[in-house]
Amino acid sequence: MLPKDYSAPDATGHFGLFGGKFIPETLIKNAADLEAEYHKAKTDPSFKSEFERLLRDYVGRPTPLYHAERLSRSAGGARIFLKREDLCHTGAHKINNALGQALLARRMGKKRIIAETGAGQHGVATATVCALFDLECVVYMGEEDIRRQAPNVARMKLLGATVRPVTSGSRTLKDATSEAIRDWMNNPEETFYIIGSVVGMHPYPMIVRDFQAVIGKETREQIIRQAGRLPDVVTACVGGGSNAAGMFYEFLGDTATVELVGVEAAGEGLEGKHAASLTLGKPGVLHGALTKLLQDEDGQVQEAHSISAGLDYPGVGPEHCYFQELGLVTYTCATDSEALFALKTLAETEGIICALESAHAMHYALKRAAIMPDDGILIVNLSGRGDKDMETIIRELGL
Ligand SMILES: *Cc1c(COP(=O)(O)O)cnc(C)c1O
Repeated sequence: MLPKDYSAPDATGHFGLFGGKFIPETLIKNAADLEAEYHKAKTDPSFKSEFERLLRDYVGRPTPLYHAERLSRSAGGARIFLKREDLCHTGAHKINNALGQALLARRMGKKRIIAETGAGQHGVATATVCALFDLECVVYMGEEDIRRQAPNVARMKLLGATVRPVTSGSRTLKDATSEAIRDWMNNPEETFYIIGSVVGMHPYPMIVRDFQAVIGKETREQIIRQAGRLPDVVTACVGGGSNAAGMFYEFLGDTATVELVGVEAAGEGLEGKHAASLTLGKPGVLHGALTKLLQDEDGQVQEAHSISAGLDYPGVGPEHCYFQELGLVTYTCATDSEALFALKTLAETEGIICALESAHAMHYALKRAAIMPDDGILIVNLSGRGDKDMETIIRELGL
C-alpha cells in the first residue's frame, strides 16, 4: 500500500537527508554483513514462515483491534479503536522486533547478543528471545534507569541475562546505547547487536520498521473487516518511533484520506524539560544516524525528559524526520500530566491500564475524537500495558 514514489531508505541508508551510516571504520563490515543477511532473509520463505509462526504462537498475534465504545462515548465524537499491542507477550510491541532480530542472529551463527535498554522493556524482550533461542545476552542499562526500573532489571536477570550498569554521562538510555555500540565494535565477530527502535545506523531503522510493520498490516485488514472502510485518523506515540513506524508504514499509500499523527512527549511543557525531538529538535548525528536531536547552541545533545521512560530519548528515528518533511505524518505532543489523565480515563471507561508511553497517543485520541463527527473512525496504537509504570502512577495520582 506504499505510495509509488516511496522507497526509503535509498542504497546508502538515507531517508531524504536523514539516516545514513555515521560509524567508525571498525563497524562498517558489521553493518554491511547485517544488511546483506537481512536482504537474504527477507526473500527466504523459511525465514518468513518461522517468524510468522513465532509471532502467532509465542507472541500471541494477531493482536485484537478493539472498538472502545465507552471510551468513545466519554470523548463524545468519533468511534475510537485500540490496537492492542499491550496484549503481546512481555506486554508491549518491542517483542515483534526483538524476535525478528534474534532470528537474524541465529541465521548469522552469532551466539552472543547485546542490547541497550532505557525503561527495560526492550531489555526484557531481548532477554526473552535469548532464553527462547539459547543465546548469551548482555543488556546495557544506565545506572539511573536501573534504579528507576527495578522490576524489569529483575525480570531480565530471571531470564538469564547479564545487566551491565552504565555510569557515563546522564546514566540513561543515550549512554547505554553508546556503550552497546562500543561493545559491538570490540566484539564484531561473535556478537549481534539488537537495537530496540527505528534508530541508529543503517540498516537498523529499516529492519526494525519492517519487523514492526506487522502492526499496521493487521490493523488495516481488521478495520476494513470491522468497519467496512479505512480509518480517518491513526495515531501512535513516538519515542524512537518503532511502534509508530510499524503502525504508519502500511497506511503511507492512504494519506489522501487517512491522517497519520505521531505524538511525542512534551514532558513538563515545551518551554521546560521535554523529549519533543521532531517538534523542537535540530539536525545532528547521534548513534550513527543524522536525525533531529535536542541539542544546545554548541550542538551538545541535551537530556530529554518524559514521565514515561520509553519516550525519554533526545533523538528520534530518521524516517520520522523524512515523514515529517514530506508531510506524510504530522507530529504533535502531550505533556506528562495530559498523558496521566488520559491513562486514567482509559482505565475507568474500559478497564485497560495502558503504558505511560501509549497514554500520550491516548491523550491526542481523546482530544481529536471529540471534534470529529460520530461516524468518524480513529485508531490508537496501544503500544504497551501499564504494569511496569504502576510505581510512577501511584506516586503521581496519589493512589
Ligand atoms: C519503548 C516503548 C515505546 C517507545 O518506543 P518506540 O520505538 O517509539 O515505539 C512506546 N511504548 C511502549 C510500551 C514502549 O515500551
